[in-house]
Amino acid sequence: MNEGRKEHRFEGRLVILGFGSIGQGVVPLLLRHIEMRPEQMLIIKPHAGGMDAADEYGVPHLHAAVDEANHRQLVGSRLRPGDCLLNLSVDVSSTALIGLCQERGALYLDTCIEPWAGAYTDESAPPAQRTNYALRESALALRRPGRGRPTAVITHGANPGLVSHFVKRALLNLAHDTGAGDAAPRTRDDWGRLAQRLGVRTIHIAERDTQFGEQRKQPGEFVNTWSVDGFVAEGRQPAELGWGTHERHFPADGARQESGSLAAIYLTRPGAGTRVRTWTPLAGPIHGFLITHGESISIADYLTVGDRANPAYRPTVHYAYHPCDDAVLSLHELAGANWRMQSGQRLIKHDIVSGMDELGVLLMGHARGAYWYGSQLTSAQARTLCPFNSATSLQVTAPAMAGVVWAMKNPDRGIVEPEELPHDEIMRLCRPYLGELVGVYSDWTPLADRGWLFDEDLDRDDPWQFKNFRVS
Ligand code: NAD
Repeated sequence: MNEGRKEHRFEGRLVILGFGSIGQGVVPLLLRHIEMRPEQMLIIKPHAGGMDAADEYGVPHLHAAVDEANHRQLVGSRLRPGDCLLNLSVDVSSTALIGLCQERGALYLDTCIEPWAGAYTDESAPPAQRTNYALRESALALRRPGRGRPTAVITHGANPGLVSHFVKRALLNLAHDTGAGDAAPRTRDDWGRLAQRLGVRTIHIAERDTQFGEQRKQPGEFVNTWSVDGFVAEGRQPAELGWGTHERHFPADGARQESGSLAAIYLTRPGAGTRVRTWTPLAGPIHGFLITHGESISIADYLTVGDRANPAYRPTVHYAYHPCDDAVLSLHELAGANWRMQSGQRLIKHDIVSGMDELGVLLMGHARGAYWYGSQLTSAQARTLCPFNSATSLQVTAPAMAGVVWAMKNPDRGIVEPEELPHDEIMRLCRPYLGELVGVYSDWTPLADRGWLFDEDLDRDDPWQFKNFRVS
């Protein structure tokens, strides 16, 4: 087992909110890489079950559900300047907690921008308000000018999170392999110009999870390898994608945002009901779900060159997720019930028999066609590398730990997104936990093998149009 090295000595209190698949997996990593005592931590979650990891490491816990009315008293009262809040809960507003931490002088990290319970399912809210675009804008609106504000790292799990560092590594590899040079960009603008110069048109977060448990999905239950609540909530949100400057067919069900970064559009349909063609090295061509995710917007925004309203360059960026097979069946059943959740829910983790999470970024449209860069991690490898983890959770908990370490070492950076963290330092911390880290070129395009069965409405002049990826 990797004993790791201590990256930082921490004297304060670390409050962990939520202790599900990610919270349980991150505790051993935090204790492995940060010099602190388990008693410096405090876990807050509503119910007493599922505390094995906390009990094994001697981490204190308290059981209470955090809500709008009690979050100041329950969480705020436990944070002093220099303390840290690691938010790994669902249904608790990230912006409320970020605001609280900024006020108290405490560090903050989450892996997803969550609203208060019910916001995703509020049928009276217009679709634009149920987007991750709106959630991101509300978090960024808490930024204040100047340095010296407590560091709050937002959306730093696997995706969103680690994949933004994969994109930078992939751009550097692509630049090297195509003879475009080895100089690393220094500024945000430089990264955008590098992507533009390389001709990257579309970036998928292309993921294929093949893990399965001892007991397969039963009728009436939703099975997944990470939060069922989290996945269903984001799957019911409108599909969203960073909208590239090369796109020439605006989707019939597409809608533009009216303010903010203007980097993304949304579709007036749930992401869990929107499929796209994508490719990963081991799975080959697959259909993934275009689930909305923060990185689709933040990466597209970060790589935008020129004026936001009329950019010279922006890639199309979106998630293309093939979850574990039982989750695909669960989504099929959920869609049939018009997105009303099944009565049963089951998270598979300790009972996973076999499988891999192949998670990476697929950069397309450049001189070498398509390039996938990412992590191929099996459940067996994950268990050897760190207890209380599956392949899926370890790809999230490693960057969460790395983000906490970075925040502790850099406590006054204000509210930051993954793209604003040093990718090489984060990759160094995560690398031991990612299994095989590979970069693979492919001649795959979404037009490969198309049109022989039925006549399809395709743009054959430019394979990288969103229209060609979409499964109609
Ligand atoms: P989970 O459903 O397994 O666990 C969620 C935890 O939150 C549970 O312990 C639950 O009891 C707790 N919780 C629920 N309501 C609460 C409340 N009112 N107050 C306090 N705690 C409450 O979820 P998970 O898989 O561990 O995911 C946790 C978070 O991480 C979610 O926001 C999820 O979207 C996010 N996530 C991000 C990534 C990524 O790669 N960025 C990947 C997986 C999960």
